[in-house]
Formats: sequence, C-alpha cells, structure tokens
Amino acid sequence: MPSQGKLYVVGIGPGNRDLLTLKAYEVIRNADVVIGHRRYIDLIRDLVRGEIVESTMRKELERVKLAVELSRDRNVCLVSGGDPCIYGIASLVEEYLSTTEISLDYEIIPGVSALNAANSLLGCAVSGDHAVISLSDSLISWEKIEHRLRLALRSDVPVVVYNPSSRRRSENLKKALEIVLSERGDVKVAVVKNAYRDGQEVFVRNLSELNPEEVDMSTVLVISSSETVFTDRRMLTPRGYSLKYEVGAKTKMAREIAEQSAGILRNIIPGNTLKDEIARRAVMATGDLSYRDLLVFKGDPQEGVEAIRRGARIVVDVEMVRAGLRAEAIAAVNFAEETERTRTADGILRLKEKIEGSVVGIGNAPSAAKALCEIAKEHRPAFIVATPVGFVGAEEAKEMVRRLDVPSITTMGTKGGSGVCAAILNCLIEHARSN
Ligand code: SAH
Repeated sequence: MPSQGKLYVVGIGPGNRDLLTLKAYEVIRNADVVIGHRRYIDLIRDLVRGEIVESTMRKELERVKLAVELSRDRNVCLVSGGDPCIYGIASLVEEYLSTTEISLDYEIIPGVSALNAANSLLGCAVSGDHAVISLSDSLISWEKIEHRLRLALRSDVPVVVYNPSSRRRSENLKKALEIVLSERGDVKVAVVKNAYRDGQEVFVRNLSELNPEEVDMSTVLVISSSETVFTDRRMLTPRGYSLKYEVGAKTKMAREIAEQSAGILRNIIPGNTLKDEIARRAVMATGDLSYRDLLVFKGDPQEGVEAIRRGARIVVDVEMVRAGLRAEAIAAVNFAEETERTRTADGILRLKEKIEGSVVGIGNAPSAAKALCEIAKEHRPAFIVATPVGFVGAEEAKEMVRRLDVPSITTMGTKGGSGVCAAILNCLIEHARSN
C-alpha cells in the first residue's frame, strides 16, 4: 500500500540558522511531526509548526521506528545535526527500511557537516584528499578505529577527527593523540569547538601542547599534513594551484631567476641521470659548486625513489630537515627523552623499529648518524641520505654510513647541512611521485 505521508531525514547543519538549507527549512516548516534529539530540536524549535517529539541520545532505533510509523500518513522530519548521513541517523533509517522491507516515500536532505563548518572557519585546512575518523567506539571496536587512524595518518593527508571525546570515553582521545605523535610527530592540530554555535572556539596547537581536557564532544580536530601551512589561526592545505597558475612566490621574476639558475647549472652538470639531478639540486640548494664532487653515491639512488614510492616512512634527525620536505616525515629529535647522548641520537635509537625499511635523512647531527649506524644492522633502513655538518665527528660519521650495507648518499668532509639533506630527499620524493 503506498503511503500518504513522507519521511524526510533532515540535516540541520552545525547550528547557525543561516547554514540550514532552504530545502531543510521548507520541509521542517511543512512537517506534521518533527522528531529528534533535544539538542537538535532546540536549534530549530521556533520553526516547527507541527508536533514535536524529543528523545534522548541512546534511543535511535526507537526514534527511527516511530518516524517510519508516523510517516505512513503524515509528513515527518527526523532531524539530525550537520549532515544526516555523516555519523548521523540516515544510515540507521536505510538499514531499518531495507531489513523490514517497508515501502515508504522517503528522502534525505543533506546538511552542512561539522567538517565543512570547521574547514571554512580554519581557511581550507582540507582542500583535497583527506581522511575522516570518529573516535566513538559505541558502534565499532576501538581496535578498528586505531587501525584506521594509523593508516590514515600514514597517508599524509589531513585527518579530521569527529567525536573526539565525551565524558564516558575521554581515554580514547588520549590514546589517539599518542598514535598521532608516534606516526606524525609533534604536528599542529586545529581544534574547532561549537562551530557556528554559541561558544564557538577555534585554535591551533602543537600536539604536545594540546590538553585533552580542552576537547569535548562538540569539537572536531584537524590534524595537519606535511603540506599544511599556518598563518595566525588560519590553517591551509594547498591543493597545488600555486604551481598550476603560478600564484604567490611563483612570480614572473622568480620564474626567470629559477630558469636562469637552472640553465647555468645544466651547463655545469649537463647529464640526465638521477645522480646528475641530485648533484644539481645540492649545488642549487647551497650555491656551492664543490658539491658536484662532494657527493658520494653508494648503490643506486633509484632505490631511495623506489622505497618512497612503496610508501616507506621518512625519518629525519631535526625539524629543519622535516620542515623543508615535500612529504610527511618524522623528526627524531621530537622523540628524545632525558639522555646522556644528544637528543637526535636518542631519538634515532628510540625510533629503531620505525627506521627499519624507511628512508632516513640526517642533515645536522653526526651523533645521529652514528646512532643510526649502531642500529642499522638489526633494523636496516631502505635508504640513507646523510649530510651531517661540522668539524666534530661529521667526516667520521659519514664514513661509517658509507661502510653500512645500505644504499646511501653522503657528502665528503665537513660540508653538508639540513638544507642540502632536504634538497636531496626532495629530489627522491619528486621522482617517486612523478612516474
Ligand atoms: N552528522 C554530524 C556529525 C554527528 S557526530 C555532522 O555531519 O556534522 C557528532 C560529532 O560531530 C561531535 O562529537 C563533533 O565531533 C562533531 N560536531 C557536530 N557539530 C559540530 C559543531 N558545530 N562544531 C564542532 N564539531 C561538531
């Protein structure tokens, strides 16, 4: 029997009336019955001309059954915060209808999800590929959430976290933050609370400075990727328009200078092999022609490219190298604890499990290169770029790296540094991405 009424599952957006769609407004105004959790009903109460049925959190199935029942002969709106499909009630309605085989005139009205709301307040923290994870383990197991979170973090996209905390499960957030620290290091995290609602707050913190107490169930978090940039509280993950349209620093003049400089370098180092290109990068980064003869290649640098292409983790010694990279990396210095050694060396030793199979860049600290050599037999990296610099131990450390049974790029003598290390790694990264 076709029914007379209709069921609308309606997303009402993050809270502010302006962000309710015209369609949602229209169906709520014309509804005979509006059903929802009190929190959402409160946001639209004044719009409703029909009957209101309020319910509490853990009564979702009852709410759905009632809405389906009433919609046989009435227009019913089942309202949900944000978008009704995203961690909302729409999937339960679909499941219920398909398992009971009830036929019903039924429509989902989309809404502005918390992600969209937070993103616009932050200034495009998410602009392309991204991952969304909920920390609520009321419907799926914590093991699954943890596994998905790790995989998302490894993919170097911004990760948006819904349901970060509640009174019942504040421990989940602490565990999740530890996972973020171990996978991405001490990265910046945006906190958006009550977006487009009373009590709105937006701030960006380093992970280590984020107090879990500051995060509640009206909050979404956005964990930055290696491509995310920050200005004041704005957080932007560029989509690459600047390369396509040459906006920002890619002015005509900057391009001319870069082309001229590349032309000069091509005359000095003319070849087309990967080694030639790496040498050009090193010379370009330092302005020092002697790098042409200072680079030592052990094995084939293509092995570094292949490792990155396979998704190998990149581990570097210091933040300065990490900041210069065009891919996600972790800096050993951020993992150091109290120690007799240097912080970078301690960080490398503590990361030994992660170093196995990864691409390691040492740009600053000879002690970190030596620590790497201590563990490399048991936890063999896939590739090493070691250009530590200075007059105390740098030459010796790089000689030790060259003796390892691991393909590497090092510099002779005292020269090197974070800039040249990042330039070489970037060359490998770009090759890994280009074909
Ligand atoms: N369907 C909703 C999500 C419901 S799950 C949507 O599409 O937005 C509830 C979680 O969403 C909250 O724990 C919080 O993480 C997030 N959330 C919902 N509204 C929010 C708001 N106005 N500001 C910040 N986070 C919000």
